[in-house]
Amino acid sequence: MKGLLFILAKRYIAGTERSDAIGAARQLNSLGILAAIDHLGENIKTKEEAKETVTEYLYLLDEIKTSGVNAAVSLKLTHLGLDFSEALSEENAAVIIERAIRYNNTVWFDMESSAYTQRTLDIYIRLKRRYPNIGIAVQSYLKRSEADVKLLISKGASVRLVKGAYKEPLEIAFKDKKDVDESFERLMKMMLASGNMTAIATHDERLINEAKRFIEEKKIPRGSFEFEMLLGIKRTLQKKLAEEGYQVRTYIPYGKDWLPYTIRRLRERKENIYFVVRNIFD
Ligand SMILES: Cc1cc2nc3c(=O)[nH]c(=O)nc-3n(C[C@H](O)[C@H](O)[C@H](O)COP(=O)(O)OP(=O)(O)OC[C@H]3O[C@@H](n4cnc5c(N)ncnc54)[C@H](O)[C@@H]3O)c2cc1C
Repeated sequence: MKGLLFILAKRYIAGTERSDAIGAARQLNSLGILAAIDHLGENIKTKEEAKETVTEYLYLLDEIKTSGVNAAVSLKLTHLGLDFSEALSEENAAVIIERAIRYNNTVWFDMESSAYTQRTLDIYIRLKRRYPNIGIAVQSYLKRSEADVKLLISKGASVRLVKGAYKEPLEIAFKDKKDVDESFERLMKMMLASGNMTAIATHDERLINEAKRFIEEKKIPRGSFEFEMLLGIKRTLQKKLAEEGYQVRTYIPYGKDWLPYTIRRLRERKENIYFVVRNIFD
């Protein structure tokens, strides 16, 4: 079963090694596309693993610098020990951010399930007071996100707007695609109008076209937003946007802990589920 899933995972991840991610970033850079590299892993079980995560990110930032690829990094706080304590994951994140500052690079915080939303925001806001070079993902499927975006705008935050990829209860999350999309559009416009850095992280062409129209109408400066997509999804669209002169960044995951990320990607596309089921019963 894991072998079968790895066949599908290969579409969405650069590989298991850091060098795979650097290679993927180099290839995308040659097409005029920037990268955000994510070392896969989440909900680690020991503090030693959290330390290993930090070490890997430091090597990653070093290698981004020495290889000359244009890539930011993206991380999850539960990969840095948030399940043990906020303080541990905050300290670990600070070590990575300081290395990124040395290289004039940026660190993006992914947003995990709603069990971590408040803590991720709190840590981000505390670190943002000390470090300018960090951004945070906000999920449009969460009903709380409008208030969070308002707060983040007031803190000068860079926001990566996403729809959200975790299973969340009805009381706190929009379930209908229409509501999630409407929320995305509303938050996207709030962010763009604020002048804070906005990453429009979606493959949804209707929303991308609406973003382009709004940007044109409001004369939003090119340097204050970018389009972001995941590795392996809508490659032609990524290239097309870059050719049109927009800043485009591809999120490149790599690492041995590829399963949870891959499952989230498979759940988004029912053809993938059919593929797994067909092959199990073949
Ligand atoms: C840069 C980036 C960072 C992200 N970070 C986070 C995060 O921190 N936290 C979080 O919860 N989520 C994150 N996500 C995932 C996001 O929440 C969505 O789950 C994902 O992007 C799919 O939603 P969509 O906006 O593309 O819209 P959808 O309406 O789901 O998809 C639009 C179209 O994109 C294509 N598509 C979408 N998903 C797939 C897929 N898996 N395989 C093949 N085609 C697909 C299909 O053609 C689909 O019709 C991130 C996404 C991006 C692009």
